[in-house]
Amino acid sequence: MSTDLPLAGISSAESLLVAAGRDRRPGAPLNLPPVPASNFILGAERAYSRDDGTPTWEALEEIVGLLDGGHAVAFASGMAGIAAVFDQLHVGSQVVLPDDCYAGVVGLAELGRQKGHWSLRRLAVDDTEGWKRACADADLIWLESPSNPLLAVADVRAICSAARKPTALVAVDNTLATSLNQRPLDLGADVSFQSATKFIGGHSDLLSGVVTVKRDDLRAGLRRSRELNGATPGALESFLAVRGARTMALRLERAQTSAMVLAERLQAHPRVAHVRYPGLTSHPTHSVARALLKGFGTIISFDVRGDAAAADAVCSRVRLIHHATSLGAVESTMERRAGVPGQEHLPPSLLRLSVGIENVDDLWADLASALRGE
Ligand SMILES: *Cc1c(COP(=O)(O)O)cnc(C)c1O
Repeated sequence: MSTDLPLAGISSAESLLVAAGRDRRPGAPLNLPPVPASNFILGAERAYSRDDGTPTWEALEEIVGLLDGGHAVAFASGMAGIAAVFDQLHVGSQVVLPDDCYAGVVGLAELGRQKGHWSLRRLAVDDTEGWKRACADADLIWLESPSNPLLAVADVRAICSAARKPTALVAVDNTLATSLNQRPLDLGADVSFQSATKFIGGHSDLLSGVVTVKRDDLRAGLRRSRELNGATPGALESFLAVRGARTMALRLERAQTSAMVLAERLQAHPRVAHVRYPGLTSHPTHSVARALLKGFGTIISFDVRGDAAAADAVCSRVRLIHHATSLGAVESTMERRAGVPGQEHLPPSLLRLSVGIENVDDLWADLASALRGE
């Protein structure tokens, strides 16, 4: 896309988010338009977009690749990207997943196990020694850190330092941290994954996923999987993801500052039994979070005193915050997570709050009145 020269010397993520993924030739549009093309005039490198990509996907890949320090491959959704990583495994592989893990990943891994594609084990996110031992014989170590929704932080650096089979992959689902708070490839992981549906898009209006790797053979394998499974990103979605990326640093900074304030206030609230937020000193993996994460993120999980019905009632009373699933958007959203398939391990009254960019005092007023029962 752009020549590398204008980006040489730009090392801050904030500037790369704005500067990367543009065509800088004279006369080119300042912002790359969506290119809804399936095929191209023959005679150059690009013939068919499912095989060869489009300029719009490549803009997103350039931005995320530079941010993560590798080569990015964009997909139709986060799950499409995750499926492409699992697609790299041979039949009979050993897969290890965290005990607290995105429900879709649990579903995908469980389905493959039932079909005999691979064996599956689960380990506690904070069982660093267990993960290090697992590295000796596993083919895919799938980490998610912070985990969704319990927000446990894995010691990715220590786990990646353990000896592993030459063909083994350590992958990190970095959706909750984003490339701004954690760069898994720098910590020794082979694969860094983000659902761009969340923070990169940031406006609850698209599905997209990006996988970043350093190794060329892995990148080729992921692209081949995308091509043959047809897991291709949409033109408009990729354009919107690039648009979202431009403001991502600002949005994340604002929302995570608010999240810290709200986590502390929730922790002191009499109607709240327990708060999980990696930035709180009471958090079980707070010290790992401090060592590995640049920021503690925008997601808070808290248990409402009482049963599931008490938690549901809080969700039904919020007005500024939306009673909706998903996370990482400008809008604050909140939902009860137990009851979602694959999330049976959660306390019944646990609410996951994704803090958006609204005014923090307005958000607190909304939460406080919903907790009071108003
Ligand atoms: C949303 C999410 C995914 C899946 O991404 P989609 O874009 O919804 O397919 C994977 N991991 C985590 C942690 C997520 O939050």
